[in-house]
Amino acid sequence: MVTMERDTETVHEAYSFVCLHCGHGWEEEYEIRHTTDLAGHRRADYFAHGRRVPSPLTRADCPDCNRGPIRILRPGRVNAARSFPP
Ligand SMILES: [Zn+2]
Repeated sequence: MVTMERDTETVHEAYSFVCLHCGHGWEEEYEIRHTTDLAGHRRADYFAHGRRVPSPLTRADCPDCNRGPIRILRPGRVNAARSFPP
């Protein structure tokens, strides 16, 4: 039996985004799978809602106005002033 990935670590991280064009703010939670292949290279794959997505760190579009630019905040800052929906 051959194992292609010798090490997998899954973490969950929530990122907060704000659009500098229209002011739209939102939060997205990602499942991030850190793997190390047999050559020792580290990689991170991002999943949201069960689908693989590009890294949020490279995201450049706003779901509201489709423009941007997008600024990434630390989790919780966008919603700090209002109660989080259940
Ligand atoms: Zn926008």
